Amino acid sequence: MTLVAVSKTVPIDRLRAALAAGHRVLGENRVQEATAKVPALAGPGGPAWHLVGPLQANKARRAVELFDVLEAIDSVALVARLDRLVGELRSGRRLPIYLQVNVDQDPAKAGFEPGDLTAALAAIGRPRNVELTGLMTVGRVGAGPEDARPTFRRLRELSEQARAAAPALGPGLSMGMSDDFEPAIEEGATVVRVGRALFGERAAGTP
Ligand SMILES: *Cc1c(COP(=O)(O)O)cnc(C)c1O
Repeated sequence: MTLVAVSKTVPIDRLRAALAAGHRVLGENRVQEATAKVPALAGPGGPAWHLVGPLQANKARRAVELFDVLEAIDSVALVARLDRLVGELRSGRRLPIYLQVNVDQDPAKAGFEPGDLTAALAAIGRPRNVELTGLMTVGRVGAGPEDARPTFRRLRELSEQARAAAPALGPGLSMGMSDDFEPAIEEGATVVRVGRALFGERAAGTP
């Protein structure tokens, strides 16, 4: 399992300390913020970077240049654009991506509707340059971690159904954050994205 240390809003000196403490994978939710951080920590012993937040089409090129994994891809058109850009910019190195699924059909969240996933995968087909590593979701925020469990269980079921129809989709499941990574792991997470539990609370007003 991969632990992504979600480092949004955390300054670079604290990220160096996280690397010294053994973290190898950092996550950002904004391309803009990563533009400053990624080059500052590049080099031997540098981290792998995951984009965990939504990606706008006009930032796709920059994201392909900066990140090692893109986790919150939410449209067929964006997959096609990324496939073209990766072919252009990464000379044969495929880029792993996760398709975000809005399991709870929450209007405040991004992602494919569960019922649209199979058709979306059929439209995506077998991309040459991006690797469809798996699915990603954000759990329901409730009174406690258990409130998110049904979302995680449903993502695993959706993954099994989708892979039966679309073998290009891998078995990865990115799910679980500071408040709900335990049920996520129990439900089969292969990636957890943890920010506050590692770095402390973010300043009020930041995402
Ligand atoms: C911020 C963020 C996280 C980490 O959230 P914490 O509650 O700090 O653990 C995980 N995933 C996404 C998509 C995020 O935006």
